[in-house]
Amino acid sequence: MSRWSVRVDPAWSVQAWRDAARLGLQHGVAPEHLDWLQEGHASLLDAPPLASLPPAESDGKTIPVPKSFVELASTCLCHSDPQRHALLYRMLWRIVHGERDLLTNPADPDVLRAMALGQAVRRDSHKMKAFVRFREVPGEDNAFIAWFEPEHHIVDRVAPFFARRFAGMRWAILTPTRSVRWDGQELAFGPGSKQADAPVEDAREELWRTYYANIFNPARLNTRMMQQEMPTRYWKHLPEASLLPTLVRDAGDRVQEMHDREAQAPQRRIPEQHIPLRGPATANGDSLDELRTAAAGCRRCPLWEPATQTVFGEGPRDAQVMFVGEQPGDSEDLSGHPFVGPAGQLLNRALQALGIDRSTLYLTNAVKHFRYERRGKKRIHSKPQVTHINACRPWLLAEIEQVSPKVIVCLGASAARAVFGPGFNLGRDRGRWHTLEDGTRGFATVHPSWVLRQPVGAAQEEAYRLLLGDLERLSTHAGNGRTE
Ligand code: SF4
Repeated sequence: MSRWSVRVDPAWSVQAWRDAARLGLQHGVAPEHLDWLQEGHASLLDAPPLASLPPAESDGKTIPVPKSFVELASTCLCHSDPQRHALLYRMLWRIVHGERDLLTNPADPDVLRAMALGQAVRRDSHKMKAFVRFREVPGEDNAFIAWFEPEHHIVDRVAPFFARRFAGMRWAILTPTRSVRWDGQELAFGPGSKQADAPVEDAREELWRTYYANIFNPARLNTRMMQQEMPTRYWKHLPEASLLPTLVRDAGDRVQEMHDREAQAPQRRIPEQHIPLRGPATANGDSLDELRTAAAGCRRCPLWEPATQTVFGEGPRDAQVMFVGEQPGDSEDLSGHPFVGPAGQLLNRALQALGIDRSTLYLTNAVKHFRYERRGKKRIHSKPQVTHINACRPWLLAEIEQVSPKVIVCLGASAARAVFGPGFNLGRDRGRWHTLEDGTRGFATVHPSWVLRQPVGAAQEEAYRLLLGDLERLSTHAGNGRTE
């Protein structure tokens, strides 16, 4: 029996591997007679290339392969293990020669190995999604470059995720073996690069570090978990990582300080609605834009992952009135803009009825990523948890600090708690003015989506009138209208 050699180029290409495997199967080349060559290597036994065989006569039949194997193979091919092509061909050979249920045998050494490769690729892909940090290209508008060192050949696999997530930016991700660029329209892949080709640091990094230091909770530090979730090999990609040794070293002292503080009797009762409004310090320049860009890469809670993009606030930076909703909905998640879905349209109707120009308002949400449950093809809104609201609160506080509105209107209980504190009770406190610690005034009303959830007819009209009645308080701040 002759021996043959084959090279898959590029080594992670499903199409290239599939073409080679199909040719081998059609000519009956057994796995032990096929050398899968690595880049830059020649066949030790001078086996001729498989491609020199003529295409086999087609009998019109396709080779039936389980879908689960195709999926597993496309993941395994991204692994850097030089034996993966041979492993997959051996498995394919066994499947088409009678072991159709091969993948259902978890004790089989080939299956075990392939599963382990697939898992490693998925883990590496997850880490890339979490730890890529874009840095602004000096002198260019809206252009960003990130340097990343994945363990496996995952750039092609993960790039569509970044294209969806950062659709409005021009960006490139450089790695030692592959690069990808996005011009706002399409992805273009290229050869590997050097770290020196990526910017080292930009102004936003200080913001990231301040933000991270603010939200780091020493009482919840678990270094073993931290190293599992954020292995030190990724630290070089993360601006906040430079803080970690100090934060970890000082965590014990800070926890002790917290205990000592808790032991002291409170000297005065802090009024519930007077909450400190302090966000992360911001860098110079147009800080709202900087915050928006930094929030686009936020990973402080798990909501970023299934969502399409961060939906940051929008409106004039000197707006006198800020609206805070709960979280973006389906339309907002897809468009990247707040209050553009059905609830936003109802809000527009109410503002119009009151003669308030929406373009004078700053509109944002307490939580910047869409939380949902998937039911079939639908994505159903799911209320954010307190942990999500708390994780996202520094962004909201930073927006308040930057816009410095005279009035904040909270739509719904989650927004009200994020602004006025956890003791806020919408049923009890709805429509009442509150004064924040810095003098900003605000009140809460129902969320327009609550109005839409009421039964169509009299109940919904009544709910709408309630929203309208509360918003009437705004008239003097947002434009034309009456004084309260
Ligand atoms: S919801 Fe907020 S805290 Fe969570 S990832 Fe998104 S921006 Fe970050």
